[in-house]
Amino acid sequence: MPSGPDLSHIDTWVFDLDNTLYPVSTNLFPQIDVRMKTFIADLLGVSLDEAFKIQKLYYHEHGTTLRGLMINHTVEPDAFLDYVHDIDYTILEPNPELRRVIKELPGRKLIHTNGSESHAEGVLDALSLEGCFEAIFDIRAGAYIPKPDPNSYERLLRSHALTPESAIMFEDLVKNLKPAAELGMVTVLVKHDSDAASSNPDIHCHHVIEDLTDWLKQAVYPRTVS
Ligand SMILES: [Mg+2]
Repeated sequence: MPSGPDLSHIDTWVFDLDNTLYPVSTNLFPQIDVRMKTFIADLLGVSLDEAFKIQKLYYHEHGTTLRGLMINHTVEPDAFLDYVHDIDYTILEPNPELRRVIKELPGRKLIHTNGSESHAEGVLDALSLEGCFEAIFDIRAGAYIPKPDPNSYERLLRSHALTPESAIMFEDLVKNLKPAAELGMVTVLVKHDSDAASSNPDIHCHHVIEDLTDWLKQAVYPRTVS
């Protein structure tokens, strides 16, 4: 029988959305990136090149571009979120195998995303993962404070009465796993395919994986069939 990691104490499964539930190679996120750049160029009356610099500066300084825009330019968050998430979700492929595996995970399943709920719904519908999750904890639910700010995780735990010691978090960004590990959660880094720079694991990543569906099968099925 194959042996996976011991997850017998896990009763809550928390998933990041973008580039975690679908591979980065899908190129969905670049559509959002372009929309953000255009929004900033229009807002500030600057060139697209200048807007891109501002976008990345705010992302690195504040965790999300939106947070930087709210602090520095009092941007209304919902207007920004609606604009940047007006993208084509049909480039995502349905993933019935991941659906089956997530459905069978024992316990509660939630999404924790720095995007909006409607964006999460668009992604989940396109992946055929609708109805797999008890809740979507989006950036609005987090009072527009993004991961990796510890506040975002504490709010998630409080809002849904989660116990970090029996929860596991899946993420494609190392920096977003640190606060989860510090709270006592088990952490899983879903590596970007052939992108070493973006997935440089550290001690806060308890497991480093390449294929979410395969890993979940390994981790859970030995327990459920025994
Ligand atoms: Mg992500």
